[in-house]
Amino acid sequence: MRHVAIVGSGPAGYYTAETLQKAGDIAVDVIDRLPVPYGLIRTGVAPDHQSIKAVSRRYEGVALADNVRFVGHVSVGSDVTIDELVDLYDAVVLATGAPNDRPLDIPGADLPGVIGSAAFVGWYNGHPDFAGLNPALDAAGVAVIGNGNVALDVARILAKTPSEFGGSDIVAHAREALGGSGVRHIHILGRRGPHQIAMTPKELGELGHLDRASPRVDPADLPPEGDDALLEPGMRKSVTHLRSFAANPVAKPVTIDFDFFAMPIAIEGEGRAQRIIVERTTLDSDLRSHGTGETYAIDAGLVISCIGYQTPPIPGVPYEHGRGRFANDDGRILPGLYCVGWARRGPSGTIGTNKPDGARIGEMVLDDIGRGGGKAGRPGLDALLASRGVTPVTFRDWRRIEAAEIAAALDGNPREKFVSVEAMLEAIGR
Ligand code: NAP
Repeated sequence: MRHVAIVGSGPAGYYTAETLQKAGDIAVDVIDRLPVPYGLIRTGVAPDHQSIKAVSRRYEGVALADNVRFVGHVSVGSDVTIDELVDLYDAVVLATGAPNDRPLDIPGADLPGVIGSAAFVGWYNGHPDFAGLNPALDAAGVAVIGNGNVALDVARILAKTPSEFGGSDIVAHAREALGGSGVRHIHILGRRGPHQIAMTPKELGELGHLDRASPRVDPADLPPEGDDALLEPGMRKSVTHLRSFAANPVAKPVTIDFDFFAMPIAIEGEGRAQRIIVERTTLDSDLRSHGTGETYAIDAGLVISCIGYQTPPIPGVPYEHGRGRFANDDGRILPGLYCVGWARRGPSGTIGTNKPDGARIGEMVLDDIGRGGGKAGRPGLDALLASRGVTPVTFRDWRRIEAAEIAAALDGNPREKFVSVEAMLEAIGR
C-alpha cells in the first residue's frame, strides 16, 4: 500500500486527491487544521457566488471514496511536523494555499481601520481566525486598494443591501454589521489604468446591477476606444463594462468610484485611519506605474488592501520570499515533499485553474513513488496523534457539522455557518 498525505483540504488539495485516489492501492489522507473542509471554497469565494461554491460537491465525491480520508482539526506544525509526515508517508503534498495578505508597505498601514482582504473576506465568510474582526463600517468613505477580482468582491459585499444577500451563505455577524453600515463612498484604487486591470467581465458587470450602489468611471481615464481591439477577448469585455459605467452614470445613494492611475502612498488619521493619500501615476513603455508627484486625499475610515496573498512559510521548508510561495521545481520541493495550487504557483488563477494543477502533481507523485516504500502511513499517523491526545475530525463528523449548519439556515439560504472551532466541535459532541 502506498501512502500520501495532502496538507490542506481546499480545491488544490482535493483535485490532487482525485487523481491519486484513482490509482487504486493507495491511501490518501487530506489533513486540515480546521474541523471543516474545502478551504477557499468555504472561506474565500464570495458568499453571494454560490454557483462557484457548488464545486464542493465534486470534492465531497472524492472525500467519500474508500481510499481517501479527511483528517480535520490537525495542525501541521504543532500537532505533527512536516518532518514526521515525510517519515510516515511515501509523499507529502502541501496544498496550503496563500492565506496571508501581502503587506501594504506604506506609512499609516498599521493604523486601526486598515485591514487586508484575507481578514475582511475571512470575516464575512466566517473563518474562525477573523470572526472577531469588527471592521470599521461606521466610516462613510472606504478605500479598496487593488484592481483584481478580490477588490471587486470586497466592494460588492460592502455595497449590497441585506435583501441582496438572500440565497447567500454570508454569516450572521457580517449580515448584521453590513445591514447597519454607514458606508456611502467606496473608492477602488488601481495604480495602473483600465487596460491593466485583473478583473474578469462577469464579476465587473455585477457592479452595474446593485440595488443602492452604482459604479463610476472618469471618462478621462479611458484609453482611446480603438486600443481595445488589441486586448484579449476577456479583457475587452471587462473594459467594455468600464466604458459603459463611464458613459451611463446612475445616481444611487452609494457610489463606487474607480480611481485609476492612483497609487496609495500614505494613510493618515488621529488614532485611526481617516484618509488615504494617493499619488497620480503614469505608465512607462513596459506598463509599469510611476508617481507624477501630483497627490490627492480620499476620506477613508476603512482601508482594505486587496493586493494579493502569500503562503505562510513552514520552518525547514524552502521558501521563495519574493513570490510568497514554497521554493519548488515544478511542484517538487524536496524528496518526498511537493506543493500544488497557490502554494506552488503563487496566488493567481481561479478555482478551476487548480484542476489541471492537481492532476499534474498527482500524476507526478504517482510516478515518483512507484510501488511505494513500505512506510507506516495512515496507521503511523493515527498512533502518533493518539500518543499526543489529538483526535481528528473525520469526514463523517464534518457531515454532522454540515447538517447542523443547513438546519440553522435562514429561509432561502444554503447554510448558517459556525464561526468558531469550539462551536464546530460542539456540534459533534466534543
Ligand atoms: P490579483 O488578481 O493579482 O490582483 C491584485 C491587484 O493588486 C492588482 O491590480 C495589482 O496591481 C494590485 N497591487 C499589487 N500590489 C499593489 C500595491 N503595492 N499597491 C497598489 N496596488 C497593488 O489578486 P486578487 O484580486 O487577490 O486575486 C487573486 C486570484 O484569485 C486572481 O487570480 C483572481 O482572479 C482570483 N479570484 C477570482 C474570483 C472569481 O473568479 N470570482 C474572485 C476572487 C479572486 P498591478 O497589476 O499594478 O500589480
